[in-house]
Amino acid sequence: MERIVIIGGGFAGLNLVKKLNKDKFRIMVIDRNNFHCFPPLFYQIASSSLASANICFPFRREFIKHKNVTYHMGHVKDIDLKGKKVTTSYETLEYDRLIIAAGSTSNYFGMKNLDEMTFGIKTVAQAAHTRDEIIDRLERGAMEPDPKRRKELLSFLVVGGGPSGVEMAGALGEMKKFILPKEYPELSPDDVRITLVEGTGKLLGAMREKSSAKALEYLKDLLVDVRLNTTMKDYSDKYVTFGDGTKEYWETVIWTAGVKGEPMPGIPAECMGRGGRIMVDTYNRVKGLENVMAVGDIALMECDDYPHGHPQMAQPAIQEAANLAKNLNEGNFTHEFKYHDKGSMATIGKNRAVADLPGSSYSGIVAWLMWMLIHLLSILGMRNKITVMLNWIWNYFNYSTSLRLLLRPTQYPLRRHWGD
Ligand SMILES: Cc1cc2nc3c(=O)[nH]c(=O)nc-3n(C[C@H](O)[C@H](O)[C@H](O)COP(=O)(O)OP(=O)(O)OC[C@H]3O[C@@H](n4cnc5c(N)ncnc54)[C@H](O)[C@@H]3O)c2cc1C
Repeated sequence: MERIVIIGGGFAGLNLVKKLNKDKFRIMVIDRNNFHCFPPLFYQIASSSLASANICFPFRREFIKHKNVTYHMGHVKDIDLKGKKVTTSYETLEYDRLIIAAGSTSNYFGMKNLDEMTFGIKTVAQAAHTRDEIIDRLERGAMEPDPKRRKELLSFLVVGGGPSGVEMAGALGEMKKFILPKEYPELSPDDVRITLVEGTGKLLGAMREKSSAKALEYLKDLLVDVRLNTTMKDYSDKYVTFGDGTKEYWETVIWTAGVKGEPMPGIPAECMGRGGRIMVDTYNRVKGLENVMAVGDIALMECDDYPHGHPQMAQPAIQEAANLAKNLNEGNFTHEFKYHDKGSMATIGKNRAVADLPGSSYSGIVAWLMWMLIHLLSILGMRNKITVMLNWIWNYFNYSTSLRLLLRPTQYPLRRHWGD
């Protein structure tokens, strides 16, 4: 039986597992996390609206439904193309065909130390870390007698006006406007500064003008200061340097401004294209390599409709995975990939969302209900769907949640091998 190793169990990897013929292939899935997760709702973890477990699902529970599929925890350390082997932090797996579906990682555009100094929402762990930072700043701010220091502690800068940045800034704005007055009576909303900076002249760059303008209006309504045409050049000692040379103090910087392909050791430089993505043909086969394919965020398929590759979003990943599975199952690469754009959406707090569907745009409560429905349907696991729905209903009426918990690692020995 042919052995397929899939690196990454995200949208692309998991859809491959579902669609590949398990009578024909033995499938091994490598992922550094032992769960599949749902990135579009990471900002809700960061803003304490949902718990991590609500939007994650263990691979082992998912894979018991399928025969000939195994999960392998580990971070990919090397790909030996000649020997057809993948080495992770824990083991070496041999393959007949390799599918790389490792997604993307934050791109700091060469700025030093930003990975250590800024916060992010690119992974569940990052989102949870960001949530802890926000709660920590609120608690410290509530105790701080010096008004100047209090304002410093409560300064949040979100960098990047794409969907992640807009959604994150909107969630912080809701916290400032609705939660603070109830749960932090020591603080005045004026103590909290939330700013979103975007390098171009438009929020939600990939969406229509109307939706972008609406998102700006919603953010202003949620007391978020939006600065367009503003780039960040450096961040050191808590001072952000902007493109025009001005420096400002920001205690917490949340970076959502760019992504690049997840680095894959062993893939030759000549296979790499723009944005650290792996170049593939219209069948998702890596250009210049035998029996190696790439799908999802990490794959760069340059075509007439998308000369710079498909957008790094869930739909291209899901659709590429389905098309590749069809070709592999049939044993012949006859179906070229064609992306069907089903539209895009973003939510900016309760009752406020924007949606661009083919042919029409929506905003307000209609877009918000559509956004909720689509996200609920997409989350893996019935229990998760129900929990998320109940959480949203509960939050809708009173913004109250028991998730603003600050859990600190204290006494237990930190396991060095966790960082492998
Ligand atoms: C905060 C946020 C919000 C988003 N919102 C939206 C949205 O609203 N709509 C939308 O369409 N898209 C959204 N996206 C983008 C969407 O999540 C991605 O396009 C999609 O997840 C890509 O799927 P993928 O399978 O290529 O990668 P992922 O889903 O990222 O999966 C990659 C998997 O590979 C694993 N992995 C990575 N590197 C290694 C390694 N070296 N070793 C082992 N395992 C590894 C990871 O743990 C992960 O499980 C959002 C992304 C983020 C981060």
